[in-house]
Amino acid sequence: MTNANGIVGEYLTLKQNIDADFLMMQVGDFYEFFADDAEEAGDLLDLKISQKSVQGCSYPMAGVPVDDLTPYLKQLVERGYRVAVAEQHETEDGYSREITRTVTPGTLLETNTADARYIASVVRSADNQYGAAFADITTGHFFVTAIEGENADAELFSEFYRFDPVEILPGPELRNDDRFLDEIREQTSGSLSIHEPDSFAPGRATHIMREQFGEELLSSLDLDSATNAEIPAAGAILSYIEQTGVGVRSSMTRLQSYHADDHVELDATTQRNLELTETMHGDAVGSLLDTIDHTVTSQGGRLLKEWLQRPRRSKSMLESRHECVGAFTEAALPREVVRDILNSVFDLERLATKAIYGNATPHDLLRIRDSLDWLPEITETIAAASDLADSPLAEVINRPNDEVVKLLSSELHDALAEEPPRSASEGGVFKQCYHEKLDTLTEQYESATKWIETLDHREKHQHGIKHLQVDRNKTDGYFIQVGKTETSKVPPSYEEIKTLTNSKRYTIEELREREREILRLEEQRGELEEELFTQLCGTIAEHATALQTVGQVFAEVDVLAGLATHVVSNNWICPTLVESDELRIDQGRHPVVEQTTEFVPNSVHMDPDRKLLIVTGPNMSGKSTYMRQTALITLLAQIGSFVPATEARIGIVDGIFTRVGALDELAQGRSTFMVEMQELSNILHSATENSLVILDEVGRGTATYDGISIAWAATEYLHNEVRANTLFATHYHELTILANHLNCVKNVHVAADETNGEVTFLRTVKNGPANRSYGINVAELAGVPVPVTDRAHDVLEKLQADKAIEAKSGESTDTSQQVVFDIGSNQVQTPGETLPETAKDEKLEARFGSEAKDVLEAILDAPIDQMAPIEVLKEVQNWKIQLKNSNSQSQNND
Ligand code: ADP
Repeated sequence: MTNANGIVGEYLTLKQNIDADFLMMQVGDFYEFFADDAEEAGDLLDLKISQKSVQGCSYPMAGVPVDDLTPYLKQLVERGYRVAVAEQHETEDGYSREITRTVTPGTLLETNTADARYIASVVRSADNQYGAAFADITTGHFFVTAIEGENADAELFSEFYRFDPVEILPGPELRNDDRFLDEIREQTSGSLSIHEPDSFAPGRATHIMREQFGEELLSSLDLDSATNAEIPAAGAILSYIEQTGVGVRSSMTRLQSYHADDHVELDATTQRNLELTETMHGDAVGSLLDTIDHTVTSQGGRLLKEWLQRPRRSKSMLESRHECVGAFTEAALPREVVRDILNSVFDLERLATKAIYGNATPHDLLRIRDSLDWLPEITETIAAASDLADSPLAEVINRPNDEVVKLLSSELHDALAEEPPRSASEGGVFKQCYHEKLDTLTEQYESATKWIETLDHREKHQHGIKHLQVDRNKTDGYFIQVGKTETSKVPPSYEEIKTLTNSKRYTIEELREREREILRLEEQRGELEEELFTQLCGTIAEHATALQTVGQVFAEVDVLAGLATHVVSNNWICPTLVESDELRIDQGRHPVVEQTTEFVPNSVHMDPDRKLLIVTGPNMSGKSTYMRQTALITLLAQIGSFVPATEARIGIVDGIFTRVGALDELAQGRSTFMVEMQELSNILHSATENSLVILDEVGRGTATYDGISIAWAATEYLHNEVRANTLFATHYHELTILANHLNCVKNVHVAADETNGEVTFLRTVKNGPANRSYGINVAELAGVPVPVTDRAHDVLEKLQADKAIEAKSGESTDTSQQVVFDIGSNQVQTPGETLPETAKDEKLEARFGSEAKDVLEAILDAPIDQMAPIEVLKEVQNWKIQLKNSNSQSQNND
């Protein structure tokens, strides 16, 4: 119906009543944008913008052909817009249009990337418990979890970082919590959408969850109570999917409820610091995932990412994965055969969803058929290789329901023609003998077209016309075309329909009859084929769960075989898992750095007597790398992978926590001292005696004495209270004396060699503390101008000659140091307060007044490695002026 303002008015009225950024409204063969939408979408999609005149007014208009809707829709939605689609229906008095779906980032089915696309929902109860749900409608995965306790916030944000949802539905109680929403935005790139508050109500959510998954499944997952925090979040996602009209609720069969206890806790910061799926700079290349990913299927790639982000704690499960990887490393040839086969399988999880949605093409069904065909091939390859057959792989590969797979496979084999058309409406989708009526229609159609094929021969012969051909086009239908020079030979029964430059077109009664018959048959056949195709998709949709299981099995086999491939080419070994706090890695390597560097292997040894290792060594010597490799080896062992070492005994950890130095983060413009302290606080609260903690500098973002004090106290707390296995790299050499006082603290250092003032990094980790920091040598290596480094050597010498500074050295046995870092008193005191005045101090003070101390402290605190050489020179100049002034002042006073 077209109202007073015509089609544009109709558009604007529809748009007013929906929550969408754009409306694409069908007008005949186009989906149109009007008015402001046309200008904006026209620019975004590079469409031609024309003007539509309605009752003397002119409106911008831009459109896309009906058959091309999907790619344009996708472009808008992938940029984070919500797009409503209104379709046109014929009515008695013209046309009516109504909104049939609203496509949002989390409900977009048409995706080209292999990555999962999660839509998330989160609610918070009065007692600060979170319920969260994450669903990928393209694969049917649906995860729910409840998070509570002191660290609920951090745990929830880690989940958001891990799933990285493309769209988020916050519960009504969270919508005005700016701090919460900002944190969510920090962890994901997803867009926030507002869904009606009622959908989060426990009663309504329980109802829709029961309807979707059945009471039995919910109760087996302990989700059958309306008080479950997960239910409102999960129910809201289901109703949102329904409301947006995407219609794929039936693909949501894979409900999984998970608990933090099954997994290794990895907070968002740790996932980032360890560069699991992307580097600190946000690149996929150079991440751990990129390094070890040798999967050949989309579903395998997704699963490996999931494993990496969610390492496990079950010893038996991990050992079973280790066995499978081991079996694949032994069976080189079968491994390659399996990988080769997997290379030909398609993304069954997504194809199943397409069938459910009614979006599948004949080619999609062909892909399902061919992928299913590969399952027995893989099963046989595994059965024939004893290494594989005797491993848990045999159980993995037998997981799909054999009968259902056979049924689907034979149904598809019986139905589909070898080369079906792209779209079901084109005809020719089905094989002969699949459907009797279809065969009859096809036969009749073929005989009618055959008659036409022979018509030109008959006519040429009968009328002696050489240049005669029978053809068909959209406007003229079937016709007989005769060259101009021979039109005089045309018999009177020929009825002229068109004159062209060099020829004329005719038709005859017989041809008309055949044409009518062909059109009728085409229509009947088309309708029947479409009906049969819908039925076939229905059968597939009915068994979608079985297809998804086959997809999962392909994914798992792919990941295990891919890991084995990496193991073989990089000489990795199978770790031994133990249920204790032991960690012993012999000749370990960093899995990513070893790819590009001549890597010097290093060992780690931690046990109840060595629970906290203080790692010292010059800047750039390899402290970070050593600690990260330890974390990554532990993590790899706990995803079920082999590890880069010669031997490894890994005590299963419940969490890995990392904190990376202010300097590294400053480079990315992220760090403030506050962030550093928040991260430290999270670790001290969350880590347990079964966790692995990596601290790469603590307290560096503040003044030296503050920093030392915090690092010192944190070390004591980790040692005495948390008792987690901890690697703590620090440039505060003062901390190394803790090893003399705390039982389980030990020192290790990354060795460096200095000959004639030139420092060489040996990259070897040895027991004991580093003797000094080589900071100026590193400055030389980095090309800091010689006058600056020479001067720095002078300054250092002078500072070292001064006992007040000697107190900082961990090596010194000077009494002043013992006062400053008196473990017996169990606290760090401010050196200014307790440091006995040395003779030199007095001399200094006599000469320069109290300014001298200020300058010395300023020198100590100056972050030379963060300063440009010119800034260093300026600072030195300032200090000189300060000293000169105070010198002349004290002389004046004299
Ligand atoms: P630090 O934390 O002590 O400043 P890093 O761990 O950042 O030092 O290492 C500095 C450089 O040395 C990096 O480029 C790293 O790739 C390299 N490196 C570290 N450890 C090793 C090793 N064991 N073998 C080879 N190269 C290493």
